[in-house]
Amino acid sequence: MAGAGARSVTILGATGSIGASTLDLIEREPERYDVVALTAHRNVAELADAARRTRARFAAVADVACGPELADALAGSGIATGAGPEALVEAARMGADWTMAAIVGCAGLAPTMAALEGGRTVALANKEALVSAGALMTAAARAHGATLLPVDSEHNAIFQCFPHDAPERVRRILLTASGGPFRTMDREAMRGMTPAQAVKHPNWSMGTKISVDSATLMNKGLELIEAAHLFPVPLDRFEIVVHPQSVIHSMVETIDGSVLAQLGLPDMRVPISYTLAWPERMATPCTGLDFAALGRLDFEAPDPVRFPALTLTRDAMAAGGAKPAILNAANEVAVAAFLEGRAGFLDITEIVLKTLERYDPPAPGTLNEVLGIDARAREVARGALETMVA
Ligand code: NAD
Ligand code: MG
Repeated sequence: MAGAGARSVTILGATGSIGASTLDLIEREPERYDVVALTAHRNVAELADAARRTRARFAAVADVACGPELADALAGSGIATGAGPEALVEAARMGADWTMAAIVGCAGLAPTMAALEGGRTVALANKEALVSAGALMTAAARAHGATLLPVDSEHNAIFQCFPHDAPERVRRILLTASGGPFRTMDREAMRGMTPAQAVKHPNWSMGTKISVDSATLMNKGLELIEAAHLFPVPLDRFEIVVHPQSVIHSMVETIDGSVLAQLGLPDMRVPISYTLAWPERMATPCTGLDFAALGRLDFEAPDPVRFPALTLTRDAMAAGGAKPAILNAANEVAVAAFLEGRAGFLDITEIVLKTLERYDPPAPGTLNEVLGIDARAREVARGALETMVA
C-alpha cells in the first residue's frame, strides 16, 4: 500500500520486458509508489494481475477486442478499465509524477507524447518514438517543462557521464554495441538465420522486436538517432564501437581527452532505477561487476558491409525530415514479416532500403503528419516485401 508522500507512477507497456523490470523495482518498495495506470497490448491476464497486485487505479489494453475480457478480469476490484488506442492516451494523461514509456514501436508515439505534454517526468524506453518523432518529442518536453530521462542502457550511460551544463566540452560520444548474435558471421551465413536464432541475444534478455533489431544492428542505428535527439552534439561526433561483453554501456569523451564510461552487468533494472530515483540513487538487487572474473573487455570496429543498417540509419538521420520515421516504419514491418516467416533475415534491411528509396514525403510538422507518414511507409514496405519474396 502506498504511504503518505508516495510517488505516483504509470507504466505504458507494463507487460513487456521493460515493464516487468519496472514493476519488479516498484513492487519491492510498495509504500513508496502509488500506481496510477498500467497498459498492455492484449495480454489481459498479465495486465489484470499486475493491476491487482499494485492496486492501480486504471488498466488499459490497446486492442479494443480485449476490452470486455479486461473488464471481466478486474470486475469488483475497483480498478477502472479501458480499451483502444485512446485509452492508452487517457492512461498517459492521468497526471502521474513519473511515467515509464515502454510500449514497443510506433504504437507508443501518441501515449508517450501525451505523457510528455503532462509536464512531469518521463522515463523513455520506447526508442521508436524518438526515432520517428524525435524533434517533436523533445520540443514537447521543453514546451511543457517535462523531464525526459533515457532508459535505453546506452543513453542512460551517456546521460550519467554527460556534462549537461557544458555540452561543447564533448569531443565524441561512443555508443557501445554488443554486435548481437551474428557478430562474427559472414553475410551469406546470415541469409539462412531463423527468428529463433536471431532473438538469442548473447547478453540481454529483451522483447522479440528489439532482439531482432540487435541481430541486424538496426537497434544500434536506431540508438544513434535516439542519441542525436537526446544529446546536443553534432551527428558526426557519435561513434559506434562493438564491445561484445556489454559491460561498458557507453562512453563520453571530453575535449581534454578524458573518456567517461558507465559500467555494469547487463540488467535493465539498473538504468530503470536511475530514472526512478533521479536525481538521487536507489538501492537495487542488482549485483556489481567482478572484474577479476571478467578478466578482459574487448572492442572491435563495427562492419557496415555485413550490417548495412548502420549506414542506413546514419544517412536517414543526416537527411532528417521524414526519413527516420520511414526507416522505423519499414523496419517494424520487415521485422514482423521476418518473425512470421514471411521474409528472410537479410530481407529486413533490404526492405528498409527499398522503402526509403520509394517514398520521399516532405518533413512532418505535427504528430499526425508523422503518423500519416508511418502508415504510408508501412504500405510501401509491404509492397517492397511482396515484390522481393515473389
Ligand atoms: P516487449 O515486446 O517485451 O513489450 C512491449 C510492451 O508494449 C508490452 O507491454 C506490450 O503489451 C506493449 N505493446 C506491444 N504492441 C503494442 C501496441 N500495438 N499498442 C500498445 N501496446 C503495445 O518489449 P520490450 O523489450 O519491453 O521493449 C519496450 C521498448 O523498450 C522498445 O521500444 C525497446 O526498443 C525498448 N528497450 C528495451 C530494452 C530491453 O532490454 N527490453 C532495452 C532498451 C530499450
Ligand atoms: Mg540499448
